[in-house]
This record gives sequence, C-alpha cells and structure tokens, in this order.
Amino acid sequence: MNKKTMRLSQILSSHTFASYADVVNSFSEKDLCLIAQMKRFFECTEADRSFANALNDDSGKHDVRKRMRDIGIAFEPQALAPLWKQPDKASRYWDWVFDGKDTLKIDGDLEADLKTHPMLHLWAAWLRARTQMVNTNASDVPDTEMIRRFHAWRQRRIAATQSELGHYADQIDHPIFAFELSKGCSMSCAFCGFSSEKLSAVFDDTPENRRLWSQIVRDGYAMFGDAACGALCYYATEPYDNAHYLDFIKDYKMITGAVVCTATAAPLHDPAWLRRLIRFYREGPDPWPRISVLSLPILRKIHDTYSPDELRDVTLLLQMKNAPRMKAKSGRTRHYKNEHLGGLKIPKGAAFIPQGSIACVSGFLVNMVDKTIKLVSPCYASNQWPHGYREFAKTTFEDAKSYRAAIEKMVETHMPENPLPDSRLAFRDDLRFENQPNGFLLLSPNKKHHIGGHPVFKEIGAIVDKGTYSYRQVMESLLKNDTSMVDIDLSLKMLYDKGLLDETNTAR
Ligand code: SF4
Repeated sequence: MNKKTMRLSQILSSHTFASYADVVNSFSEKDLCLIAQMKRFFECTEADRSFANALNDDSGKHDVRKRMRDIGIAFEPQALAPLWKQPDKASRYWDWVFDGKDTLKIDGDLEADLKTHPMLHLWAAWLRARTQMVNTNASDVPDTEMIRRFHAWRQRRIAATQSELGHYADQIDHPIFAFELSKGCSMSCAFCGFSSEKLSAVFDDTPENRRLWSQIVRDGYAMFGDAACGALCYYATEPYDNAHYLDFIKDYKMITGAVVCTATAAPLHDPAWLRRLIRFYREGPDPWPRISVLSLPILRKIHDTYSPDELRDVTLLLQMKNAPRMKAKSGRTRHYKNEHLGGLKIPKGAAFIPQGSIACVSGFLVNMVDKTIKLVSPCYASNQWPHGYREFAKTTFEDAKSYRAAIEKMVETHMPENPLPDSRLAFRDDLRFENQPNGFLLLSPNKKHHIGGHPVFKEIGAIVDKGTYSYRQVMESLLKNDTSMVDIDLSLKMLYDKGLLDETNTAR
C-alpha cells in the first residue's frame, strides 16, 4: 500500500472529525482540487440526462469531454467509470461508503476497482469523512428555570418529529431560532414547502434596525447561551432579497461566535454577492452556502459562472423537475400526487412516504419586518398546518425590551413541565387512535406506538382520545373508577414527555 492509499484508508476508518475544517484539512490541496472536480462531475451525471447518456455513447464522447473541459473538469470520465458504467457496482459502492459500521470491509471486485481507479478511493474518503463529523452539542447553556422548561419542551418536539416524520426527522438538528430578514420571497419556487408569499418588504440596514438586531441577537445569547448558536437568518425568505444579509449574519457571528448556514435559490442574480458569501464561509471553512438549483439551464449556467474550486464546499440541491431528489409534500406541493413530487416514482405499497415538511426550527420564528414571533416545530404538513410546522403561540414585539419579554413569556406560558390542570388533553393531531385489548395504539404518518402494560392505559386512551376533557377532569373521572392517582399521573406524564399529547392549546 503506498503512502497516499494508506492515508485515504485511515480517513475512511476514522470516526473523529471535529469539524468540517478538520475534514478539509485531512486532504492535500491537490486532492481537494480533484474532489471539487468530481463533485461537479457527479452534479452533471445526476441532473443532466444528456450528459450521462453521452458518457455511454461513443458518438457523444467528444461533446462530453468538451463540456467537462469548459466547466473545469480536467480528468477523463474513465477515471470514475465503475460508477457510471455499472449501476449495480455503483450502488454497492454507495452502500460501502455510507455503511457506518465497518468501512474497511469491502467486496473483492470493488476493492480491485479502487486500486485501478484511485479517484474512486479519494471520493469515498471525502464522502465518508463528511458523514463522520462529530456533532458538538451546546456546551455553555445557563442553568435557569427558563432553560429547563425550554429544553424539556424541545425534547418533546424532537420526540414528536421522530414519531411523525420518520427518516426525515434524523436529518433535522432543531435550531432554536429562525430570523426572517424580509417579508415574503422573490423566488416563487413551484415546490416551496412554506408557500412563501410574494416579497413585500425587507429589514433595512438602518442604524436603528442594526441596533435592534444586535440587541436581539445578544438577548438570545444571554437567555439561551450556546443553544442560540443553532439559528438561521432565513426561513420562508430568500437571503439574497436582503442586500445586507451578509452583514447581518456577520453580526450574528461576532456576537455569538456562530457561523449560521445559508441556503439560496438565487445563485446567479449577482455572482459578486455569492462570491462574498462563499468567501465568508471559506474562512472556516464551513460547508455552506447551499444552493437550490431550480432547472437544468440554471445548473449549466452555475457551472459556467463558478469554478469547481469556488463551489467545493457548496452543496447544490438539485430541485429541478424530475431530479432524483424528492420534493417535500408541504406548502405548494401539498396537493401534488406523489409521482409529481419529482424524483423516483414511489411504488404502490412502498415502505416509505414522501417527506412531509421542510421545516427544521423547534423554537422561535422571528420576522424582523413585521416584528412577529411564532413558537414553532416541524410536523407533517396537513390542512391545519399547511407549511409543515405547528404553531404553538404567536405574538409581536416593538423593540428589544419587548422582544425579550415576549420570548420569556412564551416559555413561561407555553412550556409547562407537566400538563396544566385546566389544559384540554388530546393526542397530537396527526395521531390516529385505536383501541387494543391491553391498551391502545397511536398511528402517526410514520410510526406505530403501542401503549399498554398497565390497565390504566385502556381508560386513559379512551378519555384522552375524546379530546374534550381537561387534565383535571380526566383525573376526576378516572379516580371515580378507583384508579390510583399516582398511576394516572405517571401515565399522563409519560405520554406528555414522549411528545404524544397536543400542546398547541397549552396556556395558563
Ligand atoms: S423555496 Fe425558498 S426561495 Fe423558493 S419560494 Fe420558498 S422560501 Fe423562497
């Protein structure tokens, strides 16, 4: 084994990348240059059928090579041939790369390919390293009653999304703040999971607004400590719409130390703007921004405009019609048939359902233009929650002082550590209740919850399913049947802590 192969094998078996910078620093400049080119090559094969077809078609070889040269890909397609020539081999390669258990165990013929195609080895090491970044949890968090309530509430929301959203829930990191720096969005994407309204105003960079912004970020950090680093400065908005977006996220970094992520669907409006954004993230380096690519002509223009190296750390989300990436069934696509969500056709009776949300925040959605705060968390989009997040509360603020007071009030009012005596008890609105001989079953869009093991559950299930009794009334009613108060209390607390109870009506 030569030195380079040994290094790549070490990267493949490593589980200790502390950050994206750590990942990048594990590769040489020369390797990073090749990685950027391979990334671009796979963007073309994934999104551009004519490019992929021409690889296999002798008559198109000349065109493909010319296109590759034009967009900065200097290697020969043969260097990655096993992945585009033999689909079965490609799928075994991906299984191997993303198998978290034993990265060095590999089929004989795949191993032979790695030896004869060293770039495959390099690409595997890069992808593998990117999945092995250790998630550093918020470390400096104040120990206050407010934080304890908020933390318990967020844990219930995480449990609820895991119950409701299936596989998608594993990818959500539940930031606690989203700040919208405009009202509406200029992009009008056909697949907008938030059904964003038309752009009507932006949060201008006036001295007064800048002071308000700085104080709001400072207050968030004072109240929640490092947890406030889990934030983004867009939601149902496009970062590019605010000409001072970059200044606002720089403020966020200066005050909290956090480099917040960015996703934009406007990569071509002003290349100088995108380049400034890329330069900001390169300082880390951090794996952002992400770009939503809305059509094949836009992808081609992106590749014509920016070099592979410029976009090395930038993920292109291929959102064009029929790209393999499925759109979420939320917002504008909620009434689309599954086969119209783009991507692969889902066979009848498939074991999975389309992603039902693009939301990620479990916490405060703040609009800086109309000065509103909503308490939100992701859910499967429905008639009641068409944008893929539940709203637990909504309020307004005037200035920094009332902003902080409003956040504190939301925590105090809507995040009780136990169900309140007069709050109505009901199951979460996505859950379907079924009586069972030893308890009951709750069915979410993605999971079955068997609740049983104690006779009390049968009674509790039936009464909570009615959705009309308060906590106090449930207690009174069950106590009449000689059920132990402790059993009722503990059982209800268990349902509450697992995020199975409706909390959208919780208020003192
Ligand atoms: S998906 Fe994003 S960029 Fe597109 S309309 Fe919605 S908010 Fe705007």
